[in-house]
Amino acid sequence: MNRREFLKSALTVAVPGSVTRIVAQEGSNGDHFSEEGDRQIARRRYKDTEMTLPLLGFGLMRLPQKNGKVDYPTAEAMVAKAMKAGCNYFDTAYMYHNGESEKFVGQALSKYPRDSYFLVSKMPIVMMNSEADNARIFNEQLARMRAGHFDFYFLHWLNAAHWEKAQRIKTLEFMKKMQSEGKIRRLGFSFHGEPEILKKIAEAYPWDLVQIQLNYLDWELCRSGEQYGVLTELGIPVSIMEPLKGGTLVSLTPEAKKVFEQANPDVSIASWGLRYAASLPNVQVVLSGMSAPDQLEDNLKTFSPFKPLTDAERQTVAEALMAYRKSGAVPCTGCKYCSPCPAGVDIPRNLALHNQVKGGVPLFHAKLVYDAMGEEERASNCVHCGVCRKKCPQQINIPQFMAEITEEFR
Ligand code: SF4
Ligand code: SF4
Repeated sequence: MNRREFLKSALTVAVPGSVTRIVAQEGSNGDHFSEEGDRQIARRRYKDTEMTLPLLGFGLMRLPQKNGKVDYPTAEAMVAKAMKAGCNYFDTAYMYHNGESEKFVGQALSKYPRDSYFLVSKMPIVMMNSEADNARIFNEQLARMRAGHFDFYFLHWLNAAHWEKAQRIKTLEFMKKMQSEGKIRRLGFSFHGEPEILKKIAEAYPWDLVQIQLNYLDWELCRSGEQYGVLTELGIPVSIMEPLKGGTLVSLTPEAKKVFEQANPDVSIASWGLRYAASLPNVQVVLSGMSAPDQLEDNLKTFSPFKPLTDAERQTVAEALMAYRKSGAVPCTGCKYCSPCPAGVDIPRNLALHNQVKGGVPLFHAKLVYDAMGEEERASNCVHCGVCRKKCPQQINIPQFMAEITEEFR
């Protein structure tokens, strides 16, 4: 099957067929502290090595919060539970929780042997201005995480502009130097953009792992399917972020949820999205930004044992997607990369209210919340400068939606 045929079939049936490289229950890094009888999640072999990574990775972008701060006791208990189940791949970044995520994971993992987990972080190209920033930020990260080295280290949030900047400030050269010094094991990047740019970056270096956003909504919308195809053709394993689109594919709409519930009332809505991503054979790890113990519990269940989607289940996903699209909801993940708006508009909140209405919340209920927001935070305060639009990884036409929401809540 050539690339065009592959992508066409993937789009038609939602995901390609069987997974051939799952190594369920196989021991690796996490074996020595698991106890007999513990539920262990499925693992997948990394390339042709003996190393396996868990199919479910712990994303640390949405940690549990208490009084506006990371809730350490709850989050540490979640890490302990994840480790016990073999979910030992932890993905953080300099920017997550304004640096608290890296600090937290440094503390939480310090009690485990260093070879019992995989630690991943990222260089925040968007926040950097000069070559000197490479060492300054990297050393800060090493100190925060106290782990000695990163198992994978990524250029964060690449697109055409950020790749150009990374080259200008020689970040990849710096990362290669750190690798030669043993501070990084493997190199990669996370990406938000068009497949054409992805191909250009992916061909520029023999990357070990690349992180893209992929889920059943974005397969076409953000051309994730094409991105997956580009990386697969180049033989680069894929890490998946936003498999549930920041929770969008959990809340969905009543109609879309009904499709899933009718197909199988015994599994969670989230499990469909995670299985969709993990069913792709070149996917190495699927990240879930778990922010509560029940989410972790449910995800562990989904991956122990992991079952790829059947043809009938792919059809169910396609039907749910069709129902969701009809609602007119905006695919906002709540990531806040668009913020702050120079005019003070609370963009994610306005979009969330709009989505609530599309999901069946009565307009007057949502309007009560809208009217209670500060005047400058409301969509009506948008001056259509377009600044936010360039920053949104989901390519949402934010100014247009602000105009629509203004009318909706007038
Ligand atoms: S387009 Fe509107 S919402 Fe976006 S940054 Fe400008 S004023 Fe803010
Ligand atoms: S509008 Fe875009 S950038 Fe802003 S929170 Fe939503 S998905 Fe993120």
